[in-house]
Amino acid sequence: MKCPHCIIEVNPDFQQRYIGSDADGYWSIFTMLCPNPKCKKLIIDLAGGGDISRNNAGQITGIQNIKSRISVKPISSSRPPVPIEVDEEYASDYREACLILSFSPKASSALSRRCLQNVLRGKAGVKKGDLSKEIQQVIDERSLPSHLAESIDAIRNIGNFAAHPIKSTSTGEIVEVEFGEAEWILDVLETLFDFYFVQPAILKIKKDALNKKLSDSGKPLMK
Ligand SMILES: [Zn+2]
Repeated sequence: MKCPHCIIEVNPDFQQRYIGSDADGYWSIFTMLCPNPKCKKLIIDLAGGGDISRNNAGQITGIQNIKSRISVKPISSSRPPVPIEVDEEYASDYREACLILSFSPKASSALSRRCLQNVLRGKAGVKKGDLSKEIQQVIDERSLPSHLAESIDAIRNIGNFAAHPIKSTSTGEIVEVEFGEAEWILDVLETLFDFYFVQPAILKIKKDALNKKLSDSGKPLMK
């Protein structure tokens, strides 16, 4: 496993502490100290199970049949990290939208819609309007591959905000959404990050390398 603090590969070595039961089941805290000398941070997970395990003396040793396990320290999301190529002004909204997804899909989607709007304005150059109209501009310009254009188009149906002009004028507006809908906006943002930031950066590295070769052999550079 990778330590969620330092992202270095470490051997899982969790200690379990049973903390009690409630109407939802049985609960334990799993802790381990990251062995990386530069990190040395405690990793803490809260887990819920459907049953308990006991030792030969009948004492409770922990939980079984684990149904949920969330990271408490660090608070983290299960989504992949933002690629380093993405500018911080977009990345920070996305990161926070990921963090709060499981606690509040509504708040998450408010942040991720704002992030989407900023990406469309900053990278696709759309004229400021409401998000629904901005999405229409991008689709009309045909600057995106069709699968991406369709994915963005689908966001307009989320929370039905395309049908409510007042709601759609402000992306920070709280709209009723399902978990899966909020997750979908993050999925779309992820593919947009790849399209607008990651792929151009990869191409630039390749182009620079080619131009270096051309320049070394006295040939005209590729524009
Ligand atoms: Zn660590």
